[in-house]
Parts: sequence; structure tokens; C-alpha cells
Amino acid sequence: MSSPAFSSLPLSAALLSNLESLGYTQMTPIQAQSLPVMLKGMDLIAQAKTGSGKTAAFAIALLEPLNPRWFGCQALVLCPTRELADQVAKEIRRLARGADNIKVLTLCGGVSFGPQVASLEHGAHIIVGTPGRVQEHLRKGTLKIDGLRNLVLDEADRMLDMGFYDSITEIIDQAPGKRQTLLFSATYPAAIKQLAARFMRDPQQVRAEALH
Ligand code: ADP
Ligand code: MG
Repeated sequence: MSSPAFSSLPLSAALLSNLESLGYTQMTPIQAQSLPVMLKGMDLIAQAKTGSGKTAAFAIALLEPLNPRWFGCQALVLCPTRELADQVAKEIRRLARGADNIKVLTLCGGVSFGPQVASLEHGAHIIVGTPGRVQEHLRKGTLKIDGLRNLVLDEADRMLDMGFYDSITEIIDQAPGKRQTLLFSATYPAAIKQLAARFMRDPQQVRAEALH
């Protein structure tokens, strides 16, 4: 059984052509299940194992409604590690290619604040970062998320295993109540259920096993 094509989704021509140039024609199972829900603006909990195409799924959902003319943070993706944040930022940039100058900035620990603050002053549409560093920027006032539209918790189970629960809740408390929250995880333990119950609005739940 083959998965549906990306062209069956209500996506802009620019995004569809980028997907095609990356060789993404058919959706993976988790993309096919999650994208129709996310593109409607609903909250989502998606559970699928590593390598199932979760990054492109939420990247498409963030890019489609983005307003390129406003250089404030419209989407925030929280990841457990700097390596994952770099990979996610790279995939979002690949998918955004050619689309009016969309700026994706990573904010992770282990590097100095100065250059991050300078980049933030120039504005960024999408921030990808680790919870500790994002929390620090919010505390310093160098990052504002009051115009945030989409919040993604990527590898949420790993972030909680690493002790980021309090950072994540402090970050979410500063985000507008009217936002879309997307939670991606390989597993669905009680701590994730608790986080979802506290911060998500009628989340739809989807789950996929294997690629294609
Ligand atoms: P996950 O976050 O679920 O672990 P990734 O988002 O890293 O998985 O994706 C795994 C791989 O699948 C990446 O190399 C990505 O480029 C590729 N990929 C994602 N979506 C598609 C698609 N629709 N068609 C082909 N390859 C895809
Ligand atoms: Mg991933």
C-alpha cells in the first residue's frame, strides 16, 4: 500500500516544489497521519520511532502558515541536544529554500551568548533550540515569544529524561495561550501525558510504526 503524495495536501506551490526537489514525493506514514491534522491548526501528539520523517512533518506545518514579512519568532522548536537542533534547523532550511528569506536560528548551550544575541537582534522567524538556553534568553529578555504561533516539542520523551521538564514549562508559560502545540516522541510515558494534559488543547493523537 503506497502512502499519499504531498501534492494531495493544501500546500503552497513553492513548498511542494521544494519537497519534490528533495526527492520527497510520497509521505511517510507519520507524515500522512499528522499533516492533515497539523495543517488544520490543531494540537497534535505524534508517536513514531526514529527515522520515520517526523522533522519534515512538523517543518512543513511550521512553514506553511509562516508570515515572511514579520521577523519575530513565529515558531519555536525545542530539542534535547545541540546535534538534534542543528539537524532540525538544517531540514527546515532545506524545506524553506527559495521561500522569501525565511530565517531559522539555533539557540543551544555550550556556545557564548554574544553572537546569539546579535542574531536575535536581526530577527528570526523560526528558533530551534535546547530548553536550557532558550529559557536563559527568555529570562534575559533577549528572546520574545509573545508572537509565537507554533510550538514543537521534538523528542519530548528524551527532553524529559534529561530533566528539562521545568525549563519546558517555564518556556511554555511565556508563549501565547492561542498557539498550536505539537509534541513528537518515540514513546508515550506518563510524564508526556502529564505535559500534554497541562499544555495542550484537545490534542489529536497519531501513531505510526514503520517507514513506508
Ligand atoms: P525522525 O525525526 O522521525 O527520526 P527524520 O525526520 O530525521 O526522522 O527523517 C529520517 C530521514 O527520512 C531523513 O533522512 C529525511 O530526509 C528522510 N525523509 C523524511 N521524509 C521523507 C519523505 N517523505 N520521503 C523520503 N524521505 C524522507
Ligand atoms: Mg527526529
